[in-house]
Amino acid sequence: MLKIYNTLSNSKEEFIPINKNLVKMYTCGPTVYDFTHIGNFRTFVFEDVFRRYLKYLGYNMLQVMNITDVDDKTIKGSLNASMSLSNYTQKYTKAFFDDLEKLNIEKVEHYPHATGYISKIVSFIETLKEKKFVYENDSSYYFSISKFDNYGKLSDLDLSLEKTRSRISQDEYSKEEINDFVVWKNWTDKDGSVFWETELGNGRPGWHIECSVMSTDLLGKHFDLHIGGKDLIFPHHENEIAQSESLTGEKFVNYWIHVEHLIVEGKKMSKSVGNFYTLRDIINMGFDPLSIRFLLLSSHYRSQLNFTFDGLKQSTENVNRLKAFYLRIQNLKCSDGYDGELGLETNQCKSDFDNALEDDINTPLAISKIFEFIRKVNRIMDENSILVENKDEIVSFLEKIDIIFGVISVEKLELTDEIKQLISLREKFRINKNWDESDNIRSKLLEMDYIIEDTKYGPVIKRKHK
Ligand code: AMP
Ligand code: ZN
Repeated sequence: MLKIYNTLSNSKEEFIPINKNLVKMYTCGPTVYDFTHIGNFRTFVFEDVFRRYLKYLGYNMLQVMNITDVDDKTIKGSLNASMSLSNYTQKYTKAFFDDLEKLNIEKVEHYPHATGYISKIVSFIETLKEKKFVYENDSSYYFSISKFDNYGKLSDLDLSLEKTRSRISQDEYSKEEINDFVVWKNWTDKDGSVFWETELGNGRPGWHIECSVMSTDLLGKHFDLHIGGKDLIFPHHENEIAQSESLTGEKFVNYWIHVEHLIVEGKKMSKSVGNFYTLRDIINMGFDPLSIRFLLLSSHYRSQLNFTFDGLKQSTENVNRLKAFYLRIQNLKCSDGYDGELGLETNQCKSDFDNALEDDINTPLAISKIFEFIRKVNRIMDENSILVENKDEIVSFLEKIDIIFGVISVEKLELTDEIKQLISLREKFRINKNWDESDNIRSKLLEMDYIIEDTKYGPVIKRKHK
């Protein structure tokens, strides 16, 4: 039974989807005004692992990740770069999708762009206006928070002290600035040539309304999961609830999940502070993107993760350990049979792994259980070989784990029998210190787009990035 921490109730709850077999999930996507940094990727990698885990549990997924391609930041960025908004955001959207692939993040079902939703956003606002939740001021439109009884429920705001509400027109603001928030912004010269001619006048949507409209359009009025980084609790998600529930009169989302921040020297990694690394920066320093993927999973999603290069090096070692173990056991020549004792150890590890993930997706605990097991099996393999049925069981367990963690990236390796034979032949040459022959095989593998690296844990194999 999966238990997950719901920000709405401030407690761990059993996960029960609305439909028995289909989980509907909305994940707030990137604002495409710059390259995505690894802090953002902490949230996106967690969402990917959560999705993969739900699939592992047998659910089908319907997931939406929006692309915020019009907001205060994208407009400012395009004007500074003297580019049209669409050329500017396309550049960073493409970079984002390239990064997702490098990080082995699965494609989700829908990636709607806010700019493709303007007419639906306008009708959504029109309905809110008819229902008196939205009012006009100076040709912009604002959501009146006092009209929505549950305002503040997600972020535990105390709104009991009566105050006259004023308005706030920027997208991001703090809890000290709680006010009626903008849903449609009238054009000003700060927006350059960015506006849409609509029944609401010439202008553009506020950031929060974009997500309410795209999510309800693609997932329906009421769905299972909504995920984002912790900074989105207020105002973004609070405002999404207010807009969506006021429109539909129904509960919007059952489970709100928030990922703690990746921090650097005690501060949230963010573009405004300037303490950030993009995935490109990390790759240019010679790190494998899968090392960063594994690092991001090495602490629980509800704990802060302090980014350091020592941590990244350690994560590279851990990925090598995992990959080398997979290759070693894959290539092992075994005698027939099954060792019951090792079978019990394997089953114990499988259930420890499942228990860890069932308990609020405890990835660090699951990972530590796997490493404990790998240590034991390596010891057995050092002393004598294991039997073929144990080998098959362990290999398929590793492949199952990898469906979730995606760091060995078994499915992308496509280890054909020919490749496996070359790897094990090379091992024989290496053991006999026949370096020339072993190098010949390395070159041959490279011609086939495989890179073999000798690490202190044994050889590991990767596909060459094209
Ligand atoms: P943005 O592109 O700023 O809209 O952010 C995309 C996602 O990254 C959102 O879910 C944010 O909450 C999340 N995020 C931003 N900074 C961090 C950070 N330092 N650690 C973890 N998640 C973050
Ligand atoms: Zn959003």
